[in-house]
Amino acid sequence: MFFRALIDILFPPLCHICKTFIPDAGDIHLCAGCREKLIPLNSPLCLVCGVPFATENGIDHLCGPCLSHPPAYAAARAALVFSGPVQDLVHRFKYGHKVHLCRPLGLLTAGHLAGFAAHVAADLVIPVPLHKKRLRWRGYNQAVLLGGILAKQWRLPLLRHNLRRVRWTEPQVNLAATERAENVRGAFAVTDKDAVAGKRVILVDDVYTTGSTVAECAKTLKCAGAEAVFVVTAARVA
Ligand SMILES: [Zn+2]
Ligand SMILES: [Zn+2]
Repeated sequence: MFFRALIDILFPPLCHICKTFIPDAGDIHLCAGCREKLIPLNSPLCLVCGVPFATENGIDHLCGPCLSHPPAYAAARAALVFSGPVQDLVHRFKYGHKVHLCRPLGLLTAGHLAGFAAHVAADLVIPVPLHKKRLRWRGYNQAVLLGGILAKQWRLPLLRHNLRRVRWTEPQVNLAATERAENVRGAFAVTDKDAVAGKRVILVDDVYTTGSTVAECAKTLKCAGAEAVFVVTAARVA
């Protein structure tokens, strides 16, 4: 108790978003005011891609695109809507070298999607890989950091080096939705097929935008023999 108080004096716990002092910060380090501004992604949503529907009290069902072109993954879920403070957190985490922000994002995601993770009965967690050139530039893979927290919270093994990015691709953020699927086609490979054969996989990334990257990863994992792939992201473009 004394030790904790001393740590708080030396390193006062500040909200990751507004930087105000939080006396009882807990693990997530976001103040009550900022947490209220986060928009959790809840039903009604598409059972496959997880896109939220505008109606308030409807039930979950399939959206048009998932009906006409079902993706290779079984279901994708995100914890938060990618807007406002979440956008800022993700941006600083991904491009600003604020590696420690994996903790609030990871813990919020682990908590919000704990029911989903239990329901899909996954065997392992696999992060979306970065190309080794991009990994050298950035110094870390944000999906590996998030995946590590999710794997620990959900007590699942984290398989880090099996799914690999074998082809350099332009950053998806610069491309139109229609170009994204083409850009990542054939970009991934599985090194050890035995490690994923017959397994139910939770594939982790930071943000779900059009779903092209995770759909291509899921296709690669399914081709390698994975039984089913479920996508989990911290945030989603709603
Ligand atoms: Zn705050
Ligand atoms: Zn859908």
